[in-house]
Amino acid sequence: MKIQHKIVLIPLGVMVFITTLSFFVLESALETLFENRIRMELKRFASLALESLYEKDNKRDFHVVDDLADHFGALSEARITFMDTEGLVLGDSDLHLEEVKHIENHAKRPEVMQAIREGFGISKRYSTSMKQDMLYVAVFRKLEPESEFHYLARASVSLKVVSGEMMRLRWMFVVIGLMSLGVVSLLGWFSGRTISKAVQGEQDHLERRVQNRTREISSIQTMGGMLNACASIDEVAAVISNIMPGLFPHMCGATSVIKASRNRLEILTAWGEHWPGRKHFSPNECWALKKGHQHFSHSESIQIPCPHLQVDLSVQSLCVPLLAQTETIGVFHLLSDEAPLSEENTRLVTPLVKQIGLALANIQLRDHLREQAIRDPLTGLYNRRYMMESLEQFISRAKRKQSSVAVMMIDFDHFKRFNDTFGHEAGDFVLINVAREMKRNIRTEDIVCRYGGEEFCLVCPEMRVDNAVAIANKLGESIRRLDLRLNKKSLGGVSISIGVSVFPTHADTVEALLKLADEALYRAKAEGRDRTRLADLEIETPVLQAHSFTDAPEV
Ligand code: GH3
Ligand code: MG
Ligand code: MG
Repeated sequence: MKIQHKIVLIPLGVMVFITTLSFFVLESALETLFENRIRMELKRFASLALESLYEKDNKRDFHVVDDLADHFGALSEARITFMDTEGLVLGDSDLHLEEVKHIENHAKRPEVMQAIREGFGISKRYSTSMKQDMLYVAVFRKLEPESEFHYLARASVSLKVVSGEMMRLRWMFVVIGLMSLGVVSLLGWFSGRTISKAVQGEQDHLERRVQNRTREISSIQTMGGMLNACASIDEVAAVISNIMPGLFPHMCGATSVIKASRNRLEILTAWGEHWPGRKHFSPNECWALKKGHQHFSHSESIQIPCPHLQVDLSVQSLCVPLLAQTETIGVFHLLSDEAPLSEENTRLVTPLVKQIGLALANIQLRDHLREQAIRDPLTGLYNRRYMMESLEQFISRAKRKQSSVAVMMIDFDHFKRFNDTFGHEAGDFVLINVAREMKRNIRTEDIVCRYGGEEFCLVCPEMRVDNAVAIANKLGESIRRLDLRLNKKSLGGVSISIGVSVFPTHADTVEALLKLADEALYRAKAEGRDRTRLADLEIETPVLQAHSFTDAPEV
């Protein structure tokens, strides 16, 4: 049985019990009251009748007395009987005169005997003349003490009258009781239904909340798992923009990341219908970054949305910094102009920003470590290991596609002398700037690495011999044109020597290509530096020799 049914049925049962009990108690009290009232009435009529009898002169005339009895009987609707103290009946309202004359003596009737003794007598018994149970009330008074005879008047009613009245009362009780029970049951049913509806409503509300919470937790867990598996920042962006609309329906949001310069933020991903905010903004434009913790702008608190969001005051906004350890790496933004941003929303944001912050930090750290592993710290160029791996891939791809790969070994001319003249710091400065110049001169698909010390290696996929020599010459010239100044002091001119080998023209393995390019470089050095030399061919190719650079001796 449901609790709401118990709430109604238990008081209803108690009420039925109390009503039944009160019915019996009240009935017996009323029965007594009713009988007493009838007795009093009978006594009053009997007294009146007796007084009237005493007023008569011919009290022993049966005609007169019987008429008097008939008169009072009609008035009182009771049976009125007159008799003397000897028990001789002189008149009776319910009997004919002849019957009165032959009626047996009433001296032994209990009510008569009691009335003669006490002035008032009462009895309930079966009447032989009326053939039914009767209630008798007899009154006796000596109004004429000197008279030879004294009289009694008796009033009586059938007990059926009493029980009939009681039956009427009982029915009234039953009807009233049933009606009140009906009303109470109806009220109980109605309040039970109301309680039941309210309880059901509350239950549904709780169930919905639990379902939502479960969905949110599972979405957060799914997102956590996906974010952990992300290998790039683009994958992180895709996961965030996929999960968020389900967690924050009817809202829009974005995630921004702080650039390496730390003076600019960029929107990584946005979700929802339309993101009104700027794609790039400065940290000063975000209250969350200025305060160092979340900024919630809504009507019940402070209404100052961040300027970069470009929304008016009516839009509720939430910006939460994304933290990795103690460093801020971005901001999570949420906007709503329809559904209010509730406490629940803000609670939900906390685990989300933790996971997003961690995922972004992991990717950034991974990228940073990867960069460290493949780059030379001084020049920012790739390292030798990365170049070797790339060259391996370029050659196998070139074999498949039947294309070519050019390898150039590059060495600074007289760098030791340069170091000795201007110092090691100036040497580093030159290395950095030459590296930058080399990067500027190559294609995005080319790989330039610091091979070691002041030696570099340039690998160019899909580049034939003629092109390779032209590029080497162009590179040599651009380095020669560099005007390097450190602390406003000119460091003088710098030059490089280059040895070139090409797959498949000169060799078809990494080692052979590097060796041949190195030998060509050695020749360039030996022949006076600041020039390009092509690796030796078994058969000389005149076309290749046309591509040496201007003032250097021809390859
Ligand atoms: P060559 O024209 O024959 O190549 O003469 P070189 O002086 O350039 O060649 P050598 O191999 O004799 O000297 C290379 C010098 O490069 C020696 C070393 O001090 C300098 N060097 C190597 N690595 C670095 C570096 O990271 N920073 C600086 N400043 N100098 C470096
Ligand atoms: Mg050198
Ligand atoms: Mg060297």
